[in-house]
Amino acid sequence: MKKLTILLLALLWAVQLSSQSGTSSNIPFKMEELTSPKFVTAVEKAGGVCVIPLGIIEKHGPHLPLGSDLFESREWVCAAAGKEYAIVFPPYYFGQIYEARHQPGTMAYSNELIWKMLEETCNELSRNGLKKIILANGHGGSTSFLEFFCQSQLASRKDYIVVLFQPGSDAALNKEINSLSKATLDQHAGEGETAMMYFIRPDLVDIGAIKSESGLNQARLKDLRYGYTGIWWYANYPNHYASDSAEPNKKLGELMILKNANQLAQLIKYLKANNTIEQLQEEFFKRTQNPIQK
Ligand SMILES: [Zn+2]
Repeated sequence: MKKLTILLLALLWAVQLSSQSGTSSNIPFKMEELTSPKFVTAVEKAGGVCVIPLGIIEKHGPHLPLGSDLFESREWVCAAAGKEYAIVFPPYYFGQIYEARHQPGTMAYSNELIWKMLEETCNELSRNGLKKIILANGHGGSTSFLEFFCQSQLASRKDYIVVLFQPGSDAALNKEINSLSKATLDQHAGEGETAMMYFIRPDLVDIGAIKSESGLNQARLKDLRYGYTGIWWYANYPNHYASDSAEPNKKLGELMILKNANQLAQLIKYLKANNTIEQLQEEFFKRTQNPIQK
């Protein structure tokens, strides 16, 4: 009996050691944590899938940190990679954010730079064997830019694919999320984001400042119909805060992160097992060489 206990303890110790040293069965998914030799193993384990969690540095109401989108997207991306292995790209905060340039702490890079940054990042990932790239966006202001970036992948032949993660509904989790939600207006730095940040890093949420500014829609362009203008956001939310309630709720934040993590894990799994996008892309590029050939 004593011998068996010693044997079991030795086994447990060995398992613990192997997990600490990040052996192939428990290899880190964060790219910056991998050694160069282990990166090679990681690429294989990931089936060539790399996820880039995209954030931004901008004001998040009066109470959340500038890097909120970075914290949030990395949280659900890492949770997804923990469920279905993929390599997670290091913190990435280059995107479209001109509409917050009037607020302190916003880092708004030029269109040329954000485009080149993402294009060259994808090229470099591909050169390193990561041919299936998922963009996991945590910043609403970059949505159009990222969709346009994906459309532009068809401009010239690529040996990799880029997929923008698009979360959908989840009946069971949505029910739970809705039962915890109190806000009727919940957008930028609102109830959802406050809840997620309160779950991830409660020490960074300045609870006392939540009501120090208004997050209500000021509707200063309410008479403009049938027209889109870049100033629409500033017209509605000049405080860069869009919410009528931002009470911190840890459980709500946890569920919101879980919902994205579950769906992203499914996307990773699909891309690992399926090459239809690559095949269609290749077929498309062949046809673009000579569109009139039958
Ligand atoms: Zn945000």
